[in-house]
Amino acid sequence: MAQTCDVLIVGGGIAGLSLAARLGPEMQVALVEAESSLAYHTSSRSARQMQPSHGPAPIRTLTERSISAVEDISDRIGRRILSPRPLMFIGTEDDVALKLSASEVLQPISIEEALQRSPDLRPEALQAAALDDSSLQVEADVLVDYYRDQALAAGAQIHCDAPVHTAQQVSAGWIVGAGEEAFHAGTVVNAAGAWADPLAVISGVRILGLEPFRRTAAVVNTSEPVAEDGHMILGADGSFYYRPDGTQLLISPCETVASQAEDARPIAADVDRLMERINSVTTLGITGVDRAWTGLRTEPADGLPMVGYDEEAPHFFWLAGQGGYGIQTSWAMADLAAGLITGSISDDDPVARPLSPLR
Ligand SMILES: Cc1cc2nc3c(=O)[nH]c(=O)nc-3n(C[C@H](O)[C@H](O)[C@H](O)COP(=O)(O)OP(=O)(O)OC[C@H]3O[C@@H](n4cnc5c(N)ncnc54)[C@H](O)[C@@H]3O)c2cc1C
Repeated sequence: MAQTCDVLIVGGGIAGLSLAARLGPEMQVALVEAESSLAYHTSSRSARQMQPSHGPAPIRTLTERSISAVEDISDRIGRRILSPRPLMFIGTEDDVALKLSASEVLQPISIEEALQRSPDLRPEALQAAALDDSSLQVEADVLVDYYRDQALAAGAQIHCDAPVHTAQQVSAGWIVGAGEEAFHAGTVVNAAGAWADPLAVISGVRILGLEPFRRTAAVVNTSEPVAEDGHMILGADGSFYYRPDGTQLLISPCETVASQAEDARPIAADVDRLMERINSVTTLGITGVDRAWTGLRTEPADGLPMVGYDEEAPHFFWLAGQGGYGIQTSWAMADLAAGLITGSISDDDPVARPLSPLR
């Protein structure tokens, strides 16, 4: 016997969980996740940053809204979720100038100031520097747990080990098979991350060209002590970033390499090259890798997420293509999606319109 629900969310990453938390009090919600645990894929593999200056205008709006909501959540649960983590671009004059020309928030700073802010930089590694002191670090796992707990408290049903294998449109919504479970849902939400297009194929819905791209990160040990409240340092040429992660360093080569939807794994040679690159700009002296991972950042060609009902398939809602912004926009994107599903936000909403799959 199929379980009935108003909304069936497919995907137990931060996108699906934040929507379940937001919709739970208003509608009967079920969420299905293919893996045996929630947030197994990209949502547990991020760099955990919320950067108000990062991304195009709709993303910046959603990030600002999310930051203020996450501050409220933090007060309510009595746990710090956000901490200041200013970031600095370093590199050649041309590369830093390009970054400055693309941002209203970045400020040029002198080499002296850059070295004063980050004394472990090698002076010879920077001709120019620019600062964004609005950037924050976010405890993404605390946020994910909060969304899950809120969803459950509101009565949402969460099923792990439940990969969607069939989805059929019927007159009053969808009949969906997920693992051993079957659902009759008014609306299906596609929050399947890298598998958003494959889920559309399973559902007989036109794909939107959402492409997964690999991005690797690692936590490494250093011979010199790391200042725990130090800056995040990014190569203005896009070849690396690093930031303190407790007493260790979190590092990334910032690669954007197309991939199929899969449980992505790091390539050891890439991490070795990255450590060399970062050792060439800092005196911290990376000695070895503690852990490394790769996640998939999935986005359409125009780089903006897809939030809204499908153009052709009735009651099929997209919440996908968050690229490198899915953590920093999660609260506001779920709020927007919930508003579109309940009808309290119209398709003409100025933030909704550029994200609509109809664009
Ligand atoms: C190295 C790295 C650094 C990043 N840094 C940041 C950052 O600093 N700030 C930021 O905002 N973002 C960052 N991101 C991006 C961010 O992590 C993603 O945008 C976000 O996690 C996407 O969440 P999601 O829920 O859409 O996807 P996912 O977390 O991948 O969740 C999708 C889920 O759907 C499930 N699923 C798929 N198909 C099915 C099916 N058929 N049936 C059931 N379940 C299914 C999958 O198992 C998966 O658990 C980073 C990403 C990477 C890789």
